[in-house]
Amino acid sequence: MLARVDRNRLEALLAELGQPSYRARQVLDARRAGAVSWPDVTALPKALRARLGGELSLWALQPEDAQESADGTIKWRMRGSDGVTVETVLIAHDRGRRTVCISSQAGCALGCRFCATGLAGPGRDLSADEIADQAEFAAAQAATRGARLGNVVFMGMGEPLQNLEAVLGGVRTLRSVDGLGLSGRRIAISTVGWVPGIRALAESGEPVRLAVSLHGSDDATRSELMPINTRWPIASLLAECRRYCDTTGRRVFIEYLLLDGVNDAPADARRLAELLRDGRFHVNLIEYNPTGTPYRASPGDARERFRAALAAAGIEASVRRSRGADVDAACGQLAGRSEPTLQLASSAK
Ligand code: SAH
Ligand code: SF4
Repeated sequence: MLARVDRNRLEALLAELGQPSYRARQVLDARRAGAVSWPDVTALPKALRARLGGELSLWALQPEDAQESADGTIKWRMRGSDGVTVETVLIAHDRGRRTVCISSQAGCALGCRFCATGLAGPGRDLSADEIADQAEFAAAQAATRGARLGNVVFMGMGEPLQNLEAVLGGVRTLRSVDGLGLSGRRIAISTVGWVPGIRALAESGEPVRLAVSLHGSDDATRSELMPINTRWPIASLLAECRRYCDTTGRRVFIEYLLLDGVNDAPADARRLAELLRDGRFHVNLIEYNPTGTPYRASPGDARERFRAALAAAGIEASVRRSRGADVDAACGQLAGRSEPTLQLASSAK
């Protein structure tokens, strides 16, 4: 398996080859300018490209193909050198700003009933380079389209807190000046409720945002949807979230997926409000994206009733609209089975 380029590795290899060190900057600039593979690094002589390409990969995960949604959202399939594939999604909110949704594992062992990744089963952990490169690649692609990458969310495939060391390594790269120079506030880690990971994240001191996928206001409903709840039921999960707020001084974002007739009644909203009382929480209500499961999205009026019942109980909530659903690029639809509809632009061969 080839290591991927970084400043140190490039400079060491160039020195060994008797090449000037400015070649390292040219390679890193080409990555930022949207190069997909070594032939795109046109600032370098062909022979040098070939020589470097024999020793280092340009990206830790090789982007293979992309699907572009009618709303401008793009999903890439990224392949590891061992053949695993994961998906990375660049979400178009508005003309100039993008959010990238990145994967932390090539699959997921936790089996949430509504999630395509969970239905597809477990895969391996990604490395820190593989995690950071998804965001760096997406940032470069956003730039070639005149947009800026504003936020990174760990809401792709996998459970980030089960692979925390690599996730934190990726976060450090993204915050560094050689990476994207992003502020921690612009990076959100979403967890199924992996309780020991929440504690470890708080103790890591990384100033990122934490989002917790709750999706149920009583243990029976939540256990039905998310098997993890039998291990760490709601009370123990929220106790850990409160401790996270105390340790870090930051609030926690509660994700709540609205499923028709399952968890979207006003009584569910009132129970949820009661659970979150006295806490420093913000609720995001999420629309269900179809994944071939028996669940259905709550209709708009049920969503509005739910939001109003929360507000009446003193809990403000935002509604997160789905993006990219027509190419299965929305949350929970990532299963590594996309068919290419758009070839990546390669500026040179
Ligand atoms: N494993 C982590 C992060 C990846 S999933 C977690 O579970 O939080 C990212 C988000 O997508 C989670 O909130 C998850 O519950 C949600 N999700 C999964 N399937 C979905 C679907 N079909 N529609 C909408 N959201 C979904
Ligand atoms: Fe895994 Fe998150 Fe999907 Fe659950 S929702 S199966 S934890 S990726």
